[in-house]
Amino acid sequence: MSLEAGLLEILACPACHAPLKEAEAELICTGGDCGLAYPVRDGIPVLLVDEARRPA
Ligand SMILES: [Zn+2]
Repeated sequence: MSLEAGLLEILACPACHAPLKEAEAELICTGGDCGLAYPVRDGIPVLLVDEARRPA
């Protein structure tokens, strides 16, 4: 997976506004108390808390 250049820099977690890091097929919040994983569908990040996977 590769997001459009520069896109990752402007994205932030909608729940806590921490930066996101790119993972296999997700964007993972780097916020210590948050850590939500947002799905990426067809190259488009779905930054919805309702769609996010909660950390284990
Ligand atoms: Zn977060």
